[in-house]
Amino acid sequence: MNATLQDQSALPIHIQSLTKKYDRLFALNAVSLDIRSGEFLTLLGPSGSGKTTLLMAIAGFNRPDSGSIKFGDEEVILKPPHKRNVGMVFQSYALFPHMSVAENIAFPLKLRGIKGQESTDRVNQALATVQLEGLGERGIEQLSGGQRQRVALARAFVFKPRILLMDEPLSALDKKLRDQMQIELKNLHEQLGVTTVYVTHDQREALTMSDRIVVINDGQLCQIDTPHAIYNQPVDRFVADFIGESTMLPLTRNNSGDLVYIDQIISSKNSTSVNTEALLVIRPERLFVINESNIDRENTIVFNGKVKEFVFQGDTAFVVLSINETDTLSFRFSTDAAAADNYLQIGQPLSVGLARHNVIVIPKDTNQ
Ligand code: ADP
Ligand code: MG
Repeated sequence: MNATLQDQSALPIHIQSLTKKYDRLFALNAVSLDIRSGEFLTLLGPSGSGKTTLLMAIAGFNRPDSGSIKFGDEEVILKPPHKRNVGMVFQSYALFPHMSVAENIAFPLKLRGIKGQESTDRVNQALATVQLEGLGERGIEQLSGGQRQRVALARAFVFKPRILLMDEPLSALDKKLRDQMQIELKNLHEQLGVTTVYVTHDQREALTMSDRIVVINDGQLCQIDTPHAIYNQPVDRFVADFIGESTMLPLTRNNSGDLVYIDQIISSKNSTSVNTEALLVIRPERLFVINESNIDRENTIVFNGKVKEFVFQGDTAFVVLSINETDTLSFRFSTDAAAADNYLQIGQPLSVGLARHNVIVIPKDTNQ
C-alpha cells in the first residue's frame, strides 16, 4: 500500500448563518463563510471574538443554535466529531503524556482500525514530514515545546483528514521558534494540500501564512480577503486598526463632493465608494520625507509639519510629525549611516509625502 500522506482529496467548507449563543451573548452571530478546497484560511480577531467557537463548531465539539455547516455537499451539523474526519491541533498540544511519540501519532490510526506495518509506515512518514525522524521512541516529556507541537501536528494529519483545524498552535512557543514554525506549517500545508482553518490573534502570523484571512469581531465577520487586500483595502475602522499600524485623519466633503483633508483633495468624487463621512488611513511605512528631487507633485499628497517626536531605532527611525493643532502623523523610515536625516531635531520643519496610489479611504463609523 502506498502510504502517501495526501491521497484523500481536500474538501471545501460551506458555512451558512451559523449562530451560537451563550446566555444572551452571541459568540457567533449569523456567520456565513465559504472556505475553498485546499486553501489556508486564517480566522483573525481579538480575544473573545468567537474564533475558537467557530473552529469548534466546524470540528463538532460544540453545537450551534442554528445554521448549517457542509463539508462539500454533506451537511455535518448533527455529526459527532469522530465522524467528521477532521484533524485538530490546539495551543496546549493535548498529547498523551504516558505514550511515546510514535504511540501518540499512531493513536488516531488505531481508532480507525489501522494497525501493523501500515500504521508503522504512516507514523514514520509523518515523523519525517515534521522533521522528527528517529524520535518515535522518545517520551513526550523528553521533547522541547517546538518538538511537542510537531508531534501534535503529525497526529493531526497522519490519518489523512480532509480538513485540518488549528487553534493558536504556536502561541506557547517563543518568538524565534514561532517565526520558524510559521514557515514550516505553510510548507507542510503546501505538501499536504489539505483544507486548513487556522486561528490566531496575531496579525503578522495571519499575514505571513494565509491564502485568505477572515477578520472576526464580536461574533461577526468583518472582512474576508487575501493578506494583501486586508492590509491595503481594509473595509472599516476595526480592520484598519487591527491589522498593521495606521494614522487616521478625518476627511470632509467640498462643494463638488470630493473628499478633502483641510484644503487638499484626497479622493475625487468619482474615485471613492465611501458615501458617508470618511477617514484617510495612512500606513507608517508609506510616508516618505520629501526633498526636492523625489517629489512628483501631481501624484503626491504633501503634509507640512514640525517634528514632535523622533526615535532612532537602528534599522529605522520613528517620527511623530505635528501637521496642525489637532493632527499628527506617525511614520518610520529606513536609516542610512551617511544620511543627514538620521537625526531630526524636535521642532524642526519637515514635509512628508504620500503617493496617491497609497491612499486608503474608509467610512468614518464602523458599520455595526
Ligand atoms: P476567541 O477564541 O476568539 O478568543 P471564543 O470563541 O473562545 O473567542 O469566545 C467567544 C465568546 O464566547 C467570548 O465572549 C467567550 O467569553 C464566550 N464563550 C466561549 N465559550 C463559552 C462557554 N462555554 N460558556 C460561556 N461563554 C463562552
Ligand atoms: Mg480562542
